[in-house]
Amino acid sequence: MDELHRFVFAGAPVRGLLVGLRESWRELLARRAGEPYPAPVRALLGEMTAAGLLLHANIKFDGALEMQMQGDGPVRLAVAEVQADLRFRATATLAGPVPEAAELPALVDARGRGRCAITLDPAAGRPGQRRWQGVVALHDAHDRPLPRLAQVIEQYMQQSEQLETRLVLAADDRVAAGLLIQRLPAVGGSRPSGERPEDARGGSEDFNRIAQLAATLTRDELLTLDADTLLRRLFWQEPLQRFAPRQPRFACRCSRDRVAGVLRGLGRSEVDAVIAERGAVEVGCEFCGAAYRFDAVDAAQLFVPAADRPPGQGALN
Ligand SMILES: [Zn+2]
Repeated sequence: MDELHRFVFAGAPVRGLLVGLRESWRELLARRAGEPYPAPVRALLGEMTAAGLLLHANIKFDGALEMQMQGDGPVRLAVAEVQADLRFRATATLAGPVPEAAELPALVDARGRGRCAITLDPAAGRPGQRRWQGVVALHDAHDRPLPRLAQVIEQYMQQSEQLETRLVLAADDRVAAGLLIQRLPAVGGSRPSGERPEDARGGSEDFNRIAQLAATLTRDELLTLDADTLLRRLFWQEPLQRFAPRQPRFACRCSRDRVAGVLRGLGRSEVDAVIAERGAVEVGCEFCGAAYRFDAVDAAQLFVPAADRPPGQGALN
């Protein structure tokens, strides 16, 4: 089952989210064109996907949240993208062999030049909303590389949002999952500094207690337990208020029209040159493995002015 659960702790300024991807995660892996991902890359991509879903479900934003790693190790690029309705897709581009059991630094930060960014890209046609990008540090305050993605995101939430967060992430070839526990901003102010001191103290105790419970969750439990069992096992002493679960699903946004738009952007002479050489332009989607083929006739259609095109073609987006 592919589910995202939201819950709050009654009487405590703490919220939580739990996501477990099974069928949709396997579908994403199965759609990979070419060699299957090595286990450490699969784990990274699954953790990025789970984290992206948790972060998007934790904010009100109509658009795409994208987490992107630009690596200088065997992972050159890893991207996980989540839409407001929790459709997701993810892909990684590799260069060179991946060491067994490699952790985050060895995968994307081998020479200390890895980059991680989170981008919020508003849905088309939302006036006044602008694309926003935050740089996510892969090192701690002493410039030591953080071994796991969960620690990277915990630090990012603390520094950028001043929100104390505990995160457990895990992924293998069958499941990608994550648990996020977060201290809620004080009521009447978006920052904990706006709290009265006694509220801050009480809130901190609640958060610390619940975060410690969350930290006892093993990756193995996260990968194997269903949501009810997991939440009961961790928080059986806490008054949990749960909301209706949501269904994340794997879906790609690629389409023939989008590819046509890219080819138009390349220009006619470029496209014609490829067709002259190979008979057709073939474009594969690295997210879902879909293949798009444009032969000479298709290519001629591409460069007909929009007004003369038959309906259903060339809707650029
Ligand atoms: Zn696709």
